[in-house]
Amino acid sequence: MTLQVYDHQTRAKRDFVPVKPGQVGLYVCGLTVQDHPHLGHMYAFVACDMIRRYLEYLGYAVTHVQNFTDIDDKIIERARRENATVEAVAQRHMVSYYEAAAALQIKPAHHYPRVTEHMPQIIAFIERVIDRGHAYAAGGDVYFRVRSWSEYGKLSGRDLDEMRSGIRVPVGDQKQDPLDFALWKAAPAREPGWDSPWGRGRPGWHIECSAMAIHYLGEHFDFHGGGRDLLFPHHENELAQSCCATGGGYSNFWLHNGLLVLGKRKMSKSDGNFLDMGTLLTRYPAAVLRFFLLNAHFRSQLEFSDDRLREAATGYARLERGAQQLLLALQPPARLVPAGLISLPGHQLLEAAATRRQRFFAAMDDDFNSGAAIGELFGLVRDLNLYLAATGGQGLDPEPLTMTRDLLAEADRILGLFRGGLAALAPPAEQPSPEVIALAVQREDARTRRDWAAADLLREQILSLGWDVVDTPQGYRLSRTRVLAAD
Ligand SMILES: [Zn+2]
Repeated sequence: MTLQVYDHQTRAKRDFVPVKPGQVGLYVCGLTVQDHPHLGHMYAFVACDMIRRYLEYLGYAVTHVQNFTDIDDKIIERARRENATVEAVAQRHMVSYYEAAAALQIKPAHHYPRVTEHMPQIIAFIERVIDRGHAYAAGGDVYFRVRSWSEYGKLSGRDLDEMRSGIRVPVGDQKQDPLDFALWKAAPAREPGWDSPWGRGRPGWHIECSAMAIHYLGEHFDFHGGGRDLLFPHHENELAQSCCATGGGYSNFWLHNGLLVLGKRKMSKSDGNFLDMGTLLTRYPAAVLRFFLLNAHFRSQLEFSDDRLREAATGYARLERGAQQLLLALQPPARLVPAGLISLPGHQLLEAAATRRQRFFAAMDDDFNSGAAIGELFGLVRDLNLYLAATGGQGLDPEPLTMTRDLLAEADRILGLFRGGLAALAPPAEQPSPEVIALAVQREDARTRRDWAAADLLREQILSLGWDVVDTPQGYRLSRTRVLAAD
């Protein structure tokens, strides 16, 4: 089976073929650090993390780059209000991003470039766009000439003439065409600024992503991800200036995750306070939040409400309980079915797990459909429960149980569902009671006396107390015989 990915630019699904064999370049538009991250932001980062994990599972060496926009008008305004430095405001919100990302089990990016640390690359990039005739300097600003690139508008599906009629031109505007957008803006002396060939100023928002993506991933890379709200103008402009600077392509696939909505509307900034990650993490386990974000196709719109989160918590608990029962069933030793034989329910579970496995990976190969993949895990837990009910937790078959565990463990590597991995869910080994230990000691004694009848009788007594005893070269070993309740 081949991984198929939907590309927003061509509006079609196609086979994934990496730009460089065995490698993947993934650029994710990161946070503008004017505020703490909310769940809507984290949707994009969790989706890209799942995509990265799947590509790594498939054997690709992924380079994941995610920027921080650490200078812009809103950060400057916030610093002014707080009487703090821009750096302090940015730093505080970056720390809160890292905390939220760690809680949600998002793998750290390989590079977290910040705008303020990449000014030379950004300025050089703007010069390239000017040299190729796609941008012009005007009164200390630099603008991208939108009409100079015939592809402009295609990514977001916009018509230039319609856009043109909707734009109001402010007095004193330096643009040659109202559609043009800034690559560089002159900065007043009281505000942060950097020296450039066009005077002291700051980069426009879009240029940073082009300059930093190309700096770390090369001119042509595989995936560009971000929220759907970034499609226009951010990604449209990023694509235009990148293709114009390089004279070639840019990202092979554009991935846009759906938006998180409250009720039926897109989240606003004030809702952001309500959905602030710091607050949410006090109300819901991080694993439930991650599960909620992954239990759908990443392109779909997600509705946030307490009801939806309660459903997610129930769903997550069902998976977790299934995994725990499975691990309990696999705890050594009492495999009562002799090796080489398999029970009828065992045979059924074996077939069911093989089908689930095939469907799980088919869902992941179909444009990273984690929601459908999780659906197969629910199915797997149902299959397991049927099996445990049919066997009554006795006479368990190692082969189908191991196969079920392997699928759950692989799914967990890809989706990052269980904190600390699947193995961390294993129930702690139970200690035998003094009564059981006393019987085991008496049995050992009987064996030394070669009184096999007494030893067998004592073993029966131990079994009746829910324990089994096996003899090893180091002496006897007690283990719990499983008593499993089906879900
Ligand atoms: Zn960006």
